[in-house]
Amino acid sequence: MATDLRLPTHKIVHPDKDRFLNEENPFEAMMSRFDRAAELLDLEPGIYQVLRNAEKQLIVSIPVQLDNGNVEVYTGYRVLYNTSRGPAKGGIRFDLQVTLEEVKALAAWMTWKCAVVNIPFGGSKGGVVCDPLKMSVGELERLTRRYTAGIISVLGPDSDVPAPDVNTNERVMAWVMDTYSMRVGHTVTAVVTGKPVEMGGSLGRREATGRGCMLVTKEALEHLGMPVRGTTVSIQGFGNVGSVAAEMLEREGCKITAIGDRSGCIYNPGGIDVVDAIKYVRKHKTLEGYNNGDPISGDELLTLDVDVLLPAALENVITSKNASKVRAKVIVEGANGPTTAGADAILDEKGIFVVPDILANAGGVTVSYFEWVQDRGGYFWSEETVNDRLRDIMTRSFRDVLSLSRQHKVNMRTAAYMLAISRVSTVHKLRGIYA
Ligand code: GLU
Repeated sequence: MATDLRLPTHKIVHPDKDRFLNEENPFEAMMSRFDRAAELLDLEPGIYQVLRNAEKQLIVSIPVQLDNGNVEVYTGYRVLYNTSRGPAKGGIRFDLQVTLEEVKALAAWMTWKCAVVNIPFGGSKGGVVCDPLKMSVGELERLTRRYTAGIISVLGPDSDVPAPDVNTNERVMAWVMDTYSMRVGHTVTAVVTGKPVEMGGSLGRREATGRGCMLVTKEALEHLGMPVRGTTVSIQGFGNVGSVAAEMLEREGCKITAIGDRSGCIYNPGGIDVVDAIKYVRKHKTLEGYNNGDPISGDELLTLDVDVLLPAALENVITSKNASKVRAKVIVEGANGPTTAGADAILDEKGIFVVPDILANAGGVTVSYFEWVQDRGGYFWSEETVNDRLRDIMTRSFRDVLSLSRQHKVNMRTAAYMLAISRVSTVHKLRGIYA
């Protein structure tokens, strides 16, 4: 018998709806966009309730023996937001800013992101409150292994598959994979993605998020009738996403006029030599001291008169306070949650075309999906195949979202949420409620 998820209540009511929105709380930022899309979709109240709650939230204490012999206890989280469409999928970040609310929002965003690009995963996220830049390699390895042991009950290629995120990388994924494999007694490559290629990683995974940003930027420019060649771009964040996007956009003929990271920002109206900047950061870790342009503040970078602004660092950088000063014509969200809900309406009013995070940065998890498929099949693809399939998925998803936005006369973010929520809710309806 089919389960009717309609509860005997009236329409969607977000219990906290009328309460003052804390602009900086990422879960509230996610929820307010979710509510708008849910309302437009006329989502059944029962499914609405299911989708506004995380399935599972783990908090673990992680004791680590430091190099000086002392023991320090760190806090780690892993949130599985929704697994209706497949195994939970999402990165692990190491950062002092990590909170449970943030991890929960990021896990929800992973759920919507996987649905937007239509890959068979749910969404999760993990985080450890720490400053990895101040830790030795040995300390990081012990932290990673103990955190993995702490959340091992939810991990597995069919249940929850981590990947890199802020301040984690291939090496960290290798430790997660090894710890899991030792615990289950055999090698399980598909338990994490973003691994080194030598141990089951996918070609093209490292560049995938930046490549995806480049692909959707080109789609957006084409849609707006703007030429790619000569397009000016400023990029906030110069890590794995920002630096790769910069390099690829430069290769396509764009002019990268500003870049910045936590150490500082530079502006060069003639165009920054991105390859040179990447070389510098490889050697010095940050852009500090790089002088191939004029120093500017972080706020100046966000409000420069450029065609495209690409925030590729952390949440909450475009807010109700600075949104009215943004002069870019297009914003491509390489980071998760860089724009607050309060800024959305201001950007709309200004006619700025925003490619939302759950579409713009989905290239990473898309190639993670390819990696998981390759690991499970034990058969590996050429880099060209990976990149071609990534391009197909990114351009198709961009066009799906664009056509929904035209159909419903909503912005790209609302359209992306509508697409994601309708895909996830359809599966919930088909599966029914397990009892
Ligand atoms: N951390 C990346 C993201 O936020 C990748 C996640 C993954 O590949 O599972 O999308």
